[in-house]
Amino acid sequence: MTHEKDACTRGCADSFDYDVVLIGAGMGGLYQLYRLKEAGYRVLALEAAEGVGGVWHWNRYPGARLDSEAYSYGYTFSNALQEEWNWSEHFAGQPELLRYFNYVADRFDLRRHIRFGNLVTAAHYLEDEQGWAVTTDKGKRYTCRYVIAAVGPLTLPSLPPFPGRDSFAGETCHTSRWPDREISFAGKSVAVIGTGATGVQVIQEVAKTAERLIVFQRTPNYCAPLNNAPIAADEQPTLKARYPEIAAACRSSNGWFMYDTDPRSIFDLADEEREVFLEKLYNDPGIGIWKANFHDIGTDEAANTVVSDFIRRKIRERVRDPDVAERLVPKTFGFGTRRVPLETRYYEVYNQANVQLVDLTETPIDRITPTSIVTTGDEFEVDMIIYATGFDAVTGSFNRIDIRGVGGVKLKDRWESGPSTFLGVHAAGFPNFFMPGGPLASLGNFTPAMEYSVDWVMDLLGYMRDHGFAYVDVAAAAEQAWTDLVRDRQSGLLIGRVKSWITGFNSNSEGTEEFRVLLNTGSAKDYRQSCDTVRRNGYPEFEFSKVESPQSALSPCLIPRH
Ligand code: NAP
Repeated sequence: MTHEKDACTRGCADSFDYDVVLIGAGMGGLYQLYRLKEAGYRVLALEAAEGVGGVWHWNRYPGARLDSEAYSYGYTFSNALQEEWNWSEHFAGQPELLRYFNYVADRFDLRRHIRFGNLVTAAHYLEDEQGWAVTTDKGKRYTCRYVIAAVGPLTLPSLPPFPGRDSFAGETCHTSRWPDREISFAGKSVAVIGTGATGVQVIQEVAKTAERLIVFQRTPNYCAPLNNAPIAADEQPTLKARYPEIAAACRSSNGWFMYDTDPRSIFDLADEEREVFLEKLYNDPGIGIWKANFHDIGTDEAANTVVSDFIRRKIRERVRDPDVAERLVPKTFGFGTRRVPLETRYYEVYNQANVQLVDLTETPIDRITPTSIVTTGDEFEVDMIIYATGFDAVTGSFNRIDIRGVGGVKLKDRWESGPSTFLGVHAAGFPNFFMPGGPLASLGNFTPAMEYSVDWVMDLLGYMRDHGFAYVDVAAAAEQAWTDLVRDRQSGLLIGRVKSWITGFNSNSEGTEEFRVLLNTGSAKDYRQSCDTVRRNGYPEFEFSKVESPQSALSPCLIPRH
């Protein structure tokens, strides 16, 4: 094992290799790195991938695309960046997003602080030094005062344990580990397993060229049109003039999107008015059908049924074969109680002669052979299997790292019956360890949510610097209170009663009946209010201390350069 130390050019006496080791150079990690660098911290970012971009690096599958307006998803921290970057479509595709994150990394000179191809395997708290040791799969070990884990909620792929899965002789791809090369579907029989937001996007694309596409669906979703369009050059100035207003809207809405929940009840409107309202949302661009809908559809079964029936009717209108349409219509849960996939002619795919839908609730997958997928009803010979089977969401990316806090306690063990944090960022007994956008934080439209969370971390670090503190831990009681609050909030929502990755169900959790609380599914407004109150009150839920020995003295590098 090697031990590396970046030389401090400002003569610091700190015994640590870095002030901060940052895990992850995705969308959240890059912004975190930018802020740390600007504030003068000695920071090293460790990234498992060979490039920046996080989900946009890994999820290269055909059809991968934003469901939030690109200009509400792009960073807001730099006016110059916003001025320079022109989004080509309202909902940008994966290649454009990857170009964007690469541009940001270069534009702000972030790349030289990142070690790519280093999967962090362990992070151990060093009690005597009040810092951390971080190790990677490349045998590197780095010490630091703080660890910031920007590891992302949708990072670790989830693969169903089908008998014979690895015996398949054709090509196999998980959507979130898609190879960085062209894959042609022409002349092939292709299977797609999974019909979540990812499955819907990849199915639309594969259906265009595959000789035969077989979709293996376990649960149909309420999908709604994306209504994407290019952004013409002459639209850019008008759009850019709205950027401050769009950013402000995201930072004040319930779900970090540029539109907000309608405060009225669905029953405040007469039937015809309601129909016009829903029709408009259905035909508008983006995810407004979910996020700008009436507030009570998330809590009241009767209100929810009105919208569920509306979407069910749309599906039946769009799919020609009534039997196929019925299989695509969700019947066991209400609209918006699982993530609503946005689509572009998704339902019309099932009107094509080359596409077949297999309903796994009628005939589940029994096994995979070298040449086929065998269900309890039939055998399907295929050349390629695409697993669009989602993620070991939220906690998966933390659990794969051996994270140990005070007394060698493992974070994974602490979270065995579900994650527990304060504001989604702090875990008691894990001092100087931060998880922006972590478990029980508020997520939705990811970039504004992550910008807020990173700003929270920077404010806390700034407070510590101003007071000469180099140690922070959250009180166990505060963590418990936050965890209980988030659980309570979720129990009042319909989303909390339906199985999906949001409630802790993934491909590997078959047979599990246990619902989990992984994110703060309540309003982002409430979340921000909680964070703002803690900050305004001077962080009473935290214990701070100054360094205990001259050896671990606060690095002069923690003093900002400007
Ligand atoms: P997902 O929503 O968890 O969907 C996984 C799919 O695989 C589901 O249809 C699931 O069926 C199926 N599946 C899992 N295990 C299976 C098994 N053993 N047998 C048969 N089917 C199985 O994952 P995802 O589609 O990758 O989406 C995850 C999240 O990523 C989304 O909710 C969204 O937040 C994000 N995302 C965003 C975008 C965007 O912004 N444009 C695009 C894609 C994804 P069940 O439903 O029955 O479990």
